[in-house]
Amino acid sequence: MDFHYPPEAEAFRAEFRSWLDQHLTDRYRDWSGFHEDPERLATMREWNALLADAGYAAIAWPEEYGGRGASLLEQLVWAEEMHRAQAPPTLNPIGLANIAPTIMHYGSEEQKRHYLPKMLRGDHIWCQGFSEPDAGSDLAALSATAVRAQSASGDAYVVNGQKVWNTFGNLATHCELLVRTDPAAPKHRGISCLIVEMDSPGVEVRPLVTITGEREFNEIFFTDVRVPAENLLGPENDGWRVAMTTLAHERAGVANLHLSVRKKVADLIATARETMIGNGRAATDDPVLRQRLAKVHLEAELLKLLSWRAVSGMLHGREQGPESSVAKLVWSDLEQEIAEVAGEVLGADANQGSWGYQRVYARSYPLVGGTTQINKNVIAQRILGLPRR
Ligand SMILES: Cc1cc2nc3c(=O)[nH]c(=O)nc-3n(C[C@H](O)[C@H](O)[C@H](O)COP(=O)(O)OP(=O)(O)OC[C@H]3O[C@@H](n4cnc5c(N)ncnc54)[C@H](O)[C@@H]3O)c2cc1C
Repeated sequence: MDFHYPPEAEAFRAEFRSWLDQHLTDRYRDWSGFHEDPERLATMREWNALLADAGYAAIAWPEEYGGRGASLLEQLVWAEEMHRAQAPPTLNPIGLANIAPTIMHYGSEEQKRHYLPKMLRGDHIWCQGFSEPDAGSDLAALSATAVRAQSASGDAYVVNGQKVWNTFGNLATHCELLVRTDPAAPKHRGISCLIVEMDSPGVEVRPLVTITGEREFNEIFFTDVRVPAENLLGPENDGWRVAMTTLAHERAGVANLHLSVRKKVADLIATARETMIGNGRAATDDPVLRQRLAKVHLEAELLKLLSWRAVSGMLHGREQGPESSVAKLVWSDLEQEIAEVAGEVLGADANQGSWGYQRVYARSYPLVGGTTQINKNVIAQRILGLPRR
């Protein structure tokens, strides 16, 4: 089964495909390790600017901010074409997809004009400073504080505390930071959202080296960091709603997860065809491995249908909520299963090269963007109607 796109979306596909054919060269395709390598980072920046200048970096954004006001289906087409061409992502995915819509919704006109254009071109990179060592799933338990203070240098918030898990924190110029501004208020009510420049005195970023050997995540420590009061995003003490806007856009990203998973399964099946397991037999000739491969293939197709169901719901004005929890859960379980099957097909070789990398990276998927257990809670309560315990 395939999605039938309307003519406008297909026209956009033809236009974007032809642009990619002309501009996407192999130099841009190899972007792995850009966290570590300044040269690759510069190439990624160049690619991002190329996309932005052609109006393709954030097509969902309104035209006045450099987007195209693209429909949901055009956004899907964009993701499909980027994936088909093996184009690198933008340098600023968290900023463009999650934080920019929040600034558009809650930001002052001045904040929008100041931050959005540089974010679009990748001149500024943004990170999300939400999670803390004792506030992850229970984000509202966050304890980093901001106290408003007047001084000769102006009206400012003085920030103290620690964040963790910050993707891009080591590359970021700006952070969307959640802080507690009213410790006496109920926990969801005393939170505010600040825009923090990462080179402010008192900000210390400590990269965390993960199991893949990369410095993708960071701890960020804030010690008496002065943040100008005009950098408040949204109303003071109403930062929870601001944060939920950012997280809603993060969850909307699940609609495209099936693209990378289906490619991974197709690659695994191709690898299995070429992997000899003895007696002149390929891995795909083994009845048990064939079953395992068929199962992950079918599950990847199921994920595609789940994603399209969520998209169809949005097109019909339904709220996305629980459907994205189901898709996220199926995706992260499937990624673990693909990692296992790759191990069964390749044996010890599965621990090296790109499979070695993908197999360990997959361990983070049950956590990122809402854990498996939290998603199961959402499904139990909001879809199955089970009582809270
Ligand atoms: C790849 C990746 C990128 C990330 N990027 C960012 C980022 O850029 N910025 C940012 O702020 N954060 C980021 N995070 C953090 C992410 O949001 C948190 O990992 C997530 O919210 C879970 O929080 P935690 O790790 O503190 O786990 P905890 O909340 O401490 O949970 C620990 C365990 O307890 C379970 N648990 C918790 N509460 C319940 C409950 N009510 N019922 C059942 N089980 C429960 C969880 O499922 C989990 O298994 C990232 C995480 C990953 C993996």
